[in-house]
Amino acid sequence: MRPDILCIYPNSIQKDGDSVFFMTKTEKGVMLGVSGPDMAAFDGEEVSRQGRAYKLCPLTVKNAGEIRKRFDFTNPKSHKGRSITLGLGDRLGLASGGHIRLLRGLDVFPVLAQQSMRELNLTGRTYEEVLADAVWAVFREGYTKGYGADGDHLKTHEEVKNALDCGYTMITLDCSEHIQNRFTSAPQSEVDAHYAALPADTIRALEKDYLGKTFPVDGELAIEFCPADFRRMVLIYLPAIGHVLSIYNELIKGIDVDFEVSIDETQSATLPAQHFFVANELIRQGVEITSLAPRFVGEFQKGIDYRGDVSDFERDFALHAKIADKFGYKVSVHSGSDKFSIFPAVGKLTKGRYHVKTAGTNWLEAVRVIAAHAPGLYREMHAFALENLPEARKYYHIVGEPANIPDIDSMTDAELPGLMDKDDSRQILHITYGLILQAKAEDGSPLFRDRIYEVLAQYEPEYFAALKTLFDRHLTTLGVEI
Ligand code: ZN
Repeated sequence: MRPDILCIYPNSIQKDGDSVFFMTKTEKGVMLGVSGPDMAAFDGEEVSRQGRAYKLCPLTVKNAGEIRKRFDFTNPKSHKGRSITLGLGDRLGLASGGHIRLLRGLDVFPVLAQQSMRELNLTGRTYEEVLADAVWAVFREGYTKGYGADGDHLKTHEEVKNALDCGYTMITLDCSEHIQNRFTSAPQSEVDAHYAALPADTIRALEKDYLGKTFPVDGELAIEFCPADFRRMVLIYLPAIGHVLSIYNELIKGIDVDFEVSIDETQSATLPAQHFFVANELIRQGVEITSLAPRFVGEFQKGIDYRGDVSDFERDFALHAKIADKFGYKVSVHSGSDKFSIFPAVGKLTKGRYHVKTAGTNWLEAVRVIAAHAPGLYREMHAFALENLPEARKYYHIVGEPANIPDIDSMTDAELPGLMDKDDSRQILHITYGLILQAKAEDGSPLFRDRIYEVLAQYEPEYFAALKTLFDRHLTTLGVEI
């Protein structure tokens, strides 16, 4: 059956030579329309309307590639030199249009495509698909101010290479597997024994460079290294520094990519001296760092506000922000969704130069829309999430407990969206997203996925309105005037 055009997105209409492009809502979902000589390059179904031939094309990776060749604004870009950059991971590939609408008039650079390998595995998407979804959102909204694509929390040469080959413009290198956490709490005698086993010339060079010296950061802060702590720090971080150097020199050096060093996945907060040491070693060996993510004090749990003493955070964060500022890169805040109580400090102490990564809570806004408009589907998802929570907990650490969630059988439909305002239910729906999206019925068909996409397509204005409320709160608490 010929898909009927229901409406054309007005901001999507573009010309290239004699060809015209537009995006349109059809009975088969959103599609690309092409007329003119370029039709031949796109996969799709040829149709005619009011005497004019054109092609209706599905939003595939291949068609997105053709759009990227013709319209440079649809290609992701590096964000070097931009003060406020926000990672806006979009797990469903549906939120980016909403994000663009609310950021369009602001001096904020969006990193629209941002997924970790874990998220790719949990959602069953590829890097090509994640980027293509961002391309379509940018094209549909006619957004020409530039956006980024972040291969998030990548760990190996292969992962970094794959993201770069797909056109990603930001690489977040996760060093966690090379950070020797066990030395954080090891007895000093064990630390000293391992340290003494390092190559003598490495030790000599490092001690000459760091011990007995003062490194001024700004007028108030100076870094010094005491020998016992220094030995411990070298053991913890030296292999990670080596890992960064090897990946940087092989894959990143000389290309225009935003390079983020992530040392946040550790057991304890990164000490300012450790942050300084890692950055100083990398920079003096030629690494150009765009941003660095330390682990801050307190807990950054998924889907809920910061847990910890906000004034402790401010004191700790101020030191990391000063070190980042001295070296000229930005401090990066991970798991930044909904950390409203610390955002004022992030905005103020960085003097408005920061990278904040958010991701998961736009999924929770999608769940809220489902709870409001498809309560039956929500009830099924809720029961499934509770049942499969132990599996999700293997990937994500949360405090949320099923015992704190009211029994939904005794709740009215109208009460269901309110579950997205309570920490326990938020966290449980938050971390089970992958299991929900991948769940299969007995016949192998998706249990929830198609219905989720259908509801969100039908209620897109409601979804975008919910995203706006959420992100306006992020931006205003960060100190961005909206
Ligand atoms: Zn992280």
